[in-house]
Amino acid sequence: MPTFVYMTRCDGCGHCVDICPSDIMHIDKTYRRALNIEPNMCWECYSCVKACPQFAIDCRGYADFAPLGHSVRARREEEKGTISWKIKFRDGREKNFVSPIRTTPWGSIPSPTELAPPTAEMLKSQHLAHEPDALKVPALPALKPDQLKREMV
Ligand code: SF4
Ligand code: SF4
Repeated sequence: MPTFVYMTRCDGCGHCVDICPSDIMHIDKTYRRALNIEPNMCWECYSCVKACPQFAIDCRGYADFAPLGHSVRARREEEKGTISWKIKFRDGREKNFVSPIRTTPWGSIPSPTELAPPTAEMLKSQHLAHEPDALKVPALPALKPDQLKREMV
């Protein structure tokens, strides 16, 4: 049981659909609510859980941090820059902890469609799209010839 959606909380906004790296969060055409169409392909990456503004998605936690029969809820608080986690165990105990959202403010990374298409020159380069600018570094780190040690084996 990877992710599942509480239908009464979901408003069909589609943020989970946009962010899922596995492309398995879909909007049901009849009910206009999200669902995980292929649970066995879920990476349990929690991206959709953290992105949902209605806190409508639960995800099974990995067995190493919570045993079976628990629930894991995540609440994104953009103004604080945090994700609050609540783990509820079968016997009623709760664990709460808070982690930073990530290293960049929520929503600050443009999607590839918002960036200029690569030039012919860029396509010949070994850099990935929009490197190094998108990484906010002047250049990618690389070894210089004098850092390489030549040895006879
Ligand atoms: Fe997709 Fe990750 Fe959500 Fe699974 S946990 S449905 S892989 S976004
Ligand atoms: Fe529903 Fe949340 Fe997905 Fe929006 S992000 S469609 S509210 S489950």
